[in-house]
Amino acid sequence: MKEMISPRLRALSPSATFEMARRSAELAAQGVDVVNMSVGEPDFKTPGHISEAAVSAIDSGYTKYSPVSGYTSLKEAVCHKLLSENGLSYSPSQIVISSGAKQSICNAVLALVNPGDEVIIPAPFWVSYPQMVLLAGGVPVHVAAPIEQDFKITPGQLEAAITPRTRLLILCSPSNPSGAVYTAAELDGLAEVIRKHDGIMVLSDEIYEHINYTGSHASIASAPGMEDRVIVVNGVSKSYAMTGWRIGYMAAPQWLASACSMLQGQYTSGPSSISQKAAETALMGSQACVEQMRLAFLRRRNVLVSLISKIPGLRISVPQGAFYLLPDCSAYLGKSFKGKKIESGNDLAMFLLSEGHVATVGGEPFGAPGCVRLSYATSEDVISEGVRRIGAALALLA
Ligand code: PMP
Ligand code: GLU
Repeated sequence: MKEMISPRLRALSPSATFEMARRSAELAAQGVDVVNMSVGEPDFKTPGHISEAAVSAIDSGYTKYSPVSGYTSLKEAVCHKLLSENGLSYSPSQIVISSGAKQSICNAVLALVNPGDEVIIPAPFWVSYPQMVLLAGGVPVHVAAPIEQDFKITPGQLEAAITPRTRLLILCSPSNPSGAVYTAAELDGLAEVIRKHDGIMVLSDEIYEHINYTGSHASIASAPGMEDRVIVVNGVSKSYAMTGWRIGYMAAPQWLASACSMLQGQYTSGPSSISQKAAETALMGSQACVEQMRLAFLRRRNVLVSLISKIPGLRISVPQGAFYLLPDCSAYLGKSFKGKKIESGNDLAMFLLSEGHVATVGGEPFGAPGCVRLSYATSEDVISEGVRRIGAALALLA
């Protein structure tokens, strides 16, 4: 009966991030003390004033279908955020609220990509981008952003990757999994290339906007002449520790926002009414919680970077944002433990889990062969213990 699964789905693989989180939880359920540095989600509680807004939303009857593209009041809050924080001017009709930024990205990909269309994805990339492109029948085109380039692509590389079939570029800054952050000048350089080619849109995934250690966030939508070429995707999952609430959004040219709203109307309807009211409070309320969490992530990054640097053979580029570190572990490839050879970042992640009891994610599904991704969205104690275990496990390889 398995053949009944559509070829569309057979082309996909499971989310590697959630898969490692599942394995880690499975081991923990067997009573093993596992340090979990796999899935990327803030360990903080959702700030109290946001949760209280959800409770009063229930009490006030926000328990029915919302408009398909979200409540106008939340769209207005998003417009306010985009204008005040990013200098970007949108009308509420250009905003589509979705069940997580993940759905916003998938909506855009499904709306734009035809079978055979190419989508340029700088590698390393977040695991779900190429999978979404495959779902649409498109062709992911990876452009290498190696550690020597601090995991960023150059305008020359972008230009060289463009063909008549290119439909979309997906950018993520701050980046999952590398922590790279593009400067405004770097984004201007990429925008200049895009402007030379009609018919290419840019999806700018800014979900880690507020977890940035450089002092400033830049959006490619702000580059001259890019308003009609960019889909800005953001959400509340990471900035406000609201991963389970499932609220993300896109800001896009009207024609695309309308298409995505139509898609959503036939497919999921509007996202949770209660979560939308909570997200509105997140965006319009005090932003002190965002800064507090950013500072905690910065301290954790510093702890992780200093500890990991003491392990021989690991190469890193110090992350400038998000809450991931992507050490290049190539020096350990080809080594063995108990007759089992480590041939990839995935093998290494499995070895670290089974021998070190520390859950990471192998680099291959991120387009980062020979790397493993560590999430440091966890306490400094857990980070220290995780790195201690990684060091001890790696020392077993010969
Ligand atoms: N983009 C990136 C780069 C991410 O890491 C995530 C993580 N979940 C998302 C989008 C989706 O976030 P969510 O659906 O929780 O809003
Ligand atoms: N984005 C997080 C991660 O990369 C959550 C899992 C997911 O959505 O893939 O770990």
